[in-house]
Amino acid sequence: MFIAKEIQTAAYLFASILFILSLGGLSSQESAKRGVFYGIIGMIVAIIATVLGQGVAGHVYIISAIAVASVIGLLLARKVEMTSMPQLVAILHSFVGLAAVLVGFGSYLDPKSHELTGAAHSIHLVEVFVGIFIGAITFTGSIIAWGKLDGKVPSKPWAFKGLQTMNLVLLAACTVLGVLFCNAEGTGGMLFLLIMTAIASFIGVVLVMAIGGGDMPVVVSMLNSYSGWAASAAGFMLGNDLLIVTGALVGSSGAILSMHMCHAMNRSFFSVIFANGSGNGSGGEKKAIEGEVTALNHEEVAALLKEAKSVVIVPGYGMAVAKAQYPIYDMVQTLRKEGKNVRFAIHPVAGRLPGHMNVLLAEANVPYDIVLEMDEINDDMPDTDVVMVIGANDVVNPSAQDDPASSIYGMPVIEAWKAEKVIIMKRSMSAGYSGEDNPLFYKPNSEMLYGDAKASVEKLMSFLKA
Ligand code: NDP
Repeated sequence: MFIAKEIQTAAYLFASILFILSLGGLSSQESAKRGVFYGIIGMIVAIIATVLGQGVAGHVYIISAIAVASVIGLLLARKVEMTSMPQLVAILHSFVGLAAVLVGFGSYLDPKSHELTGAAHSIHLVEVFVGIFIGAITFTGSIIAWGKLDGKVPSKPWAFKGLQTMNLVLLAACTVLGVLFCNAEGTGGMLFLLIMTAIASFIGVVLVMAIGGGDMPVVVSMLNSYSGWAASAAGFMLGNDLLIVTGALVGSSGAILSMHMCHAMNRSFFSVIFANGSGNGSGGEKKAIEGEVTALNHEEVAALLKEAKSVVIVPGYGMAVAKAQYPIYDMVQTLRKEGKNVRFAIHPVAGRLPGHMNVLLAEANVPYDIVLEMDEINDDMPDTDVVMVIGANDVVNPSAQDDPASSIYGMPVIEAWKAEKVIIMKRSMSAGYSGEDNPLFYKPNSEMLYGDAKASVEKLMSFLKA
C-alpha cells in the first residue's frame, strides 16, 4: 500500500510542525515532557509517511529492521543509567554521522544519480561530498567523545605544536579532493571520495582529542549540531524534505546551544571548535594551594544545618553517580519545614550533559522555584549561612577566577567560598573532570564531609530528625 505524494507532503509538514513544537517544549522544564511527546508523535508520523511513500520497495526488510532496532533501542534506554546518558547521546550522534556516510556512498553508486546532467549533477556531487565529509567527522568525533565521557579515552587535551596548521592542511586537501571528485566522470571519483572520508575521519578524531575535559560540554552540543547537519545533508542526497528540515532544526539548535555553553563557560566558540589543545589556561606554573583541609562528621554537619537560616545546595556529577537527588530533596523538605531558606544553585555545565542537574532534580520532584541558575544565586552567596557542595568539584573551583595557569581559568563558577560555611560532600580529595585540584577544599571556612553523597545525606537526615 502506498500513499499519494500529496498526503506524504502533508504528513511531512505535520511532522515538521511537531518537531518545532517539540523543540519549543524542551525550552522549559514545565513543558519538557510535552515537548518529548510531540517529538515522538512527529517521528512516528515521519516514519510511516516515508515507509508508505511512492517507490519505496522492500517493506519486509524495512519493517524488520525497524522492529529489531526498536527492541534494541528500548532495551538500551531501559538499561542505561542516568549517569551514562551523555555517553549514550554521544554514541547516538555517531550513528547519525555513519548513516550520512553510508547514504552518501549509496547515493553516489546509485545508477539513477548518474542519469542527472548539468547543474543538477554537479549539485548532487557536492551534496554527496559535503554529506560524507560532515558525516565522517561526526562519526569519529562522537566515538572519541563517547570514549572521553566514559573514561576510556583520557580527558587531557591532545596537544602538539602545529596542530592548527595540520588541521588547515587537511582541510585544504579535502577541498582539492572535492574539486577532483566533482570533475571525475561516472563513478571515477570513488578514490577521491574514499581518501576524503579517511581524512575527515581523522579530523573528527583530532578535533575532539584536542579538547580538554573542562570544554567537553561544548563538544557534546557541537557534535549534536554536526549530527543535525549530517542528517540534513543525507536529506538532500535522498531528496527527502523532512530529513532536510529536521536536520536543519537539530543542526541550528545544537549550534545555538553550543554558543550558549561557550558563553556560560566564557569560551570563544571558535577557539573551542578549533582547539589548540591548551584549554583556556596559560599553561604556565599553577598557583600553589595554601591552607589545610579539615573535615567534619555527619553529626557536626547536621548541627550546622540546624543552626543555619539560609542554605544553598550545589549539586554536581557526584550527585548523579550516587543517585542522591531523592534523599537530598527529603532533606530539603525537612529543612524548609523548619523555616529555613533552602535553594539549589545550578551551574550550566554541572554533571556530564547540558541540563543534567535540572533533569535529576525534576525527577525527584524538586519545585522549580527553588532551583536557581548560577547567575541568579551568586550574588546571594555572602548572605548564605551554609553552602553544601554535593558531588560537585570543577563548578565551584576558585582557580577559574584566580589562577591564569588553570585549564578552567575564565570559566564562571559558583562562588561557594563567599558563604559563611562550605560543606563539601565527596568521597576523597580527588580532582574533578577537568583534572584540576580545587583550592576551595583548603579554605578556612570549608569543611569536607567524606562519603558517598546518598549515604551521607541519609545519615545527615537521621541526625536532623533526631
Ligand atoms: P566534577 O566532575 O568536577 O566533580 C564531581 C565530583 O563528584 C568528583 O570530584 C568526585 O569526587 C565526586 N563524586 C563522584 N562520585 C561520588 C559519589 N558517589 N558521592 C559523592 N561524590 C562523588 O563535576 P562537576 O559537576 O562539578 O563539573 C562537571 C565537569 O564535567 C566540568 O568540568 C564540565 O566541564 C565537565 N563536563 C560537563 C558536561 C556537561 O554538558 N554538563 C559534559 C562533559 C563534561 P570523589 O571521587 O572524591 O568522590
